[in-house]
Amino acid sequence: MTERAIYDLLVWAWLGVAVLTVLSLLWITAPYGRHARGGWGPQVSNRVGWVLMEAPASLAFLGFWLYGGAPLGATALAFLGLWQLHYVYRAFIYPFAVRGDPARGMPLSIALMGALFNVVNAYLNARWLFGLGPSLPASWLADPRFLAGAALFLGGLATNRWADRVLRELRQPGEHGYKVPRGGLYERISCPNYFGETVQWIGWAVLTWSPGGAVFALWTAANLVPRAVSHHRWYQSKFADYPPERRAVIPYVL
Ligand code: NDP
Repeated sequence: MTERAIYDLLVWAWLGVAVLTVLSLLWITAPYGRHARGGWGPQVSNRVGWVLMEAPASLAFLGFWLYGGAPLGATALAFLGLWQLHYVYRAFIYPFAVRGDPARGMPLSIALMGALFNVVNAYLNARWLFGLGPSLPASWLADPRFLAGAALFLGGLATNRWADRVLRELRQPGEHGYKVPRGGLYERISCPNYFGETVQWIGWAVLTWSPGGAVFALWTAANLVPRAVSHHRWYQSKFADYPPERRAVIPYVL
């Protein structure tokens, strides 16, 4: 069996797992952050959990780029740069910036599941872009698909970073509790960070025009939309004066 045939099978299998994930997340909320609870095995600190979960996405993508011959064309470097723009931050900066209860951990099982997801996802994306898919020329950077996708990617990334910063600044160093976030997109939805992240990976799917990108965008939505709904319900149950016009993750819709 060729690697390309295995890749195609993996894409379909991964789509199937995304469907199962969204169905199970409608019933079971991943047990970290405000939804943390016992019964998921040994815990690691939140910080260690985030690094363990996200570092493989950055390192594996880099590894598959090297394995693909370390292409130095403008398009390959743009793909590598945009991916790392997200994952270097998420794996090596974000975990050290969050404020919260240092005693609150994350189940090791969740961190390892996240790491496994990230390695498979890095494979599906990087192997297509740097080996199995067509080698895109520099003129791809002027293609409307690249330009529209890059606008979505960067807009989503900016929204996600802004939204994460608003949440971080709700707490003074050493504070652990929760407050109602205010301002900007928070007036419309409870989770602009998840909204921004989903838009970002839809942008990635468009700018790479790849099966790996498409399946990752679906996975992101499958993971984050149910979690946004859980967060939204949690806010409504904790804050009697929670703004009634606010939706979970899509302004005016959901
Ligand atoms: P959350 O919004 O649940 O939490 C983000 C941080 O803000 C946590 O430190 C949390 O503290 C704190 N926080 C959240 N709400 C409040 C509040 N109302 N008052 C005070 N502090 C608050 O996000 P996640 O932890 O789930 O995700 C973090 C980032 O990772 C997001 O940008 C998300 O998009 C991204 N992510 C991406 C995934 C993907 O599939 N691509 C999957 C999961 C996350 P505490 O931990 O104490 O709750």
